[in-house]
Amino acid sequence: MKIGFLNYATSKTHSLLLVTIALLSPAWLTASAESRIVATTSMLADAARQLSEDFAHVNGLMAEGVDPHLYRPTRNDLVLLQRADIIFYNGMHLEGRMGDTLNRLSRRSKSVHAIAEAVFAASDREPLLEDENELDPHIWMEVNLWREAVVRMAEILADEFPQHAEVVRNNHARYDAELLLLETYAREVLTTIPQATRVLVTAHDAFGYLGEAYAIEVRGIQGISTESEAGLRDIVQLIDFIVERDIPAIFVETSVADKNVRALIEGARARGHQLIIGGELFSDAMGPRGHWTGTYIGMIDHNVSTIASALGGTVPEGGFRQWRKNR
Ligand SMILES: [Zn+2]
Repeated sequence: MKIGFLNYATSKTHSLLLVTIALLSPAWLTASAESRIVATTSMLADAARQLSEDFAHVNGLMAEGVDPHLYRPTRNDLVLLQRADIIFYNGMHLEGRMGDTLNRLSRRSKSVHAIAEAVFAASDREPLLEDENELDPHIWMEVNLWREAVVRMAEILADEFPQHAEVVRNNHARYDAELLLLETYAREVLTTIPQATRVLVTAHDAFGYLGEAYAIEVRGIQGISTESEAGLRDIVQLIDFIVERDIPAIFVETSVADKNVRALIEGARARGHQLIIGGELFSDAMGPRGHWTGTYIGMIDHNVSTIASALGGTVPEGGFRQWRKNR
């Protein structure tokens, strides 16, 4: 009896120790049976988690507030990339400083996939152009386009993990139904913005696909990539535009410095035009993990609701979540 209790106590201590070790180690060192997926942006990581729920461990390299145009992989990222079974990245030069690393990995016959490029390769849609050399990589801004990205990811996962293909298909069907509702919500809410103020001015050109899909004119102070600097002439031209069109609000972005946005507000004020910051938008990175805005659906809900309410549209109380409950 006594020995039995001691054995029990020892094994309990032992399993506590194992749990502690598990908590201290990188998740997939202790979960070797799981498949390992690495995604560059938080939007791709979220989609990969939705699709591979129950069988894979997903690591997103770029955290909250990180600018993918300027991001350089850390030593830890390189370890994660080396060990990954599948790597998802956006491509179309979004990850401007990771190109060499990703090329090297794909030459080593890793399963490396540029999702934005896969979307356009499989569809008859053309990517937006900034000029003849620069494609717009920000495809997550249009929900229907992002749904295509999720289809491509589901296909890749089902191919690479045939033993989990059924799970992927079920996860995809469930998630796509939510994305379709999100698309409906975005369209409804953005349509309420009056015609005269359907202009979105932001720190950089991340919202082109959103503008095209939902009929909103879009102006970024910086270009498609945050690597290009806005010149004084660009700022002055944009101030002229804002004053002439009587635009009430412009927006800052969580992953881009806001000094240019402040220069616009000062410039407009000097011309006697009251311009406010309409809110903070998630452009190239989502909010913190564990928060609503740390999911793709929450990010789009936040953006769409913030844009519509600052530009004179109508937003249902409680945003997408309440709207969805009421359906
Ligand atoms: Zn960007």
